[in-house]
Amino acid sequence: MRILIVEDEVRLAEVIKKGLTEDGFAVDLAHDGEDGQYLAESEKYDLIMLDIMLPKLDGITLCKNLRSQKITTPILMLTAKTTLEDKIAGLDSGADDYLAKPFAFLELRSRIYALIRRSNNNVSSVLVIDDLALDPLKHTCIRNKKNISLTPKEFAILEFILRHQNEVVTRTMITEHVWDYNFDGMSNIVDVFVASLRKKINSNASVKLISTIHGVGYKI
Ligand code: CA
Repeated sequence: MRILIVEDEVRLAEVIKKGLTEDGFAVDLAHDGEDGQYLAESEKYDLIMLDIMLPKLDGITLCKNLRSQKITTPILMLTAKTTLEDKIAGLDSGADDYLAKPFAFLELRSRIYALIRRSNNNVSSVLVIDDLALDPLKHTCIRNKKNISLTPKEFAILEFILRHQNEVVTRTMITEHVWDYNFDGMSNIVDVFVASLRKKINSNASVKLISTIHGVGYKI
């Protein structure tokens, strides 16, 4: 899953990015509202974290701008402001949730997963197919009662494919959601990761998961 953080407190933004990257998220940073709007309009994010007090363009206006362009990506407002009026203004502008600073990273993480789950219309956070269960919150992958150890990128690719069950997922979709802005999309890196992922989840299993749709991408 790919996340955009629009936050002018550079240190805070870096700390959140580090925590989320360790969790397997691809994270882009913007430190003012204009950069944030440019990235939100040009890249495909699964969630946007938006500070309210920002240079150049404030978070409330930015949120309204995105919603008026029919960009429906879940938005989590982050702010030092905690009055009721501020919360209402944030939610009225089209944000999906609100978190007041300072916050615990674990709470942020739970809110992020809850928002992504809601936008995918999933009731449970666990993604299941055949006898495989992937739990993004606990970061576990279990098949036939055995724990499978995946690298962060393998985990992220499997999570993305599982969120699009019965759809064909292209290599471009995978790179757009699993890698950040600095990724060089020319290589065949997706195929390499999918090959190692298949090896891990399909060894000793009768049903082979993740099929290749030639010239297009993958399907689970
Ligand atoms: Ca700020």
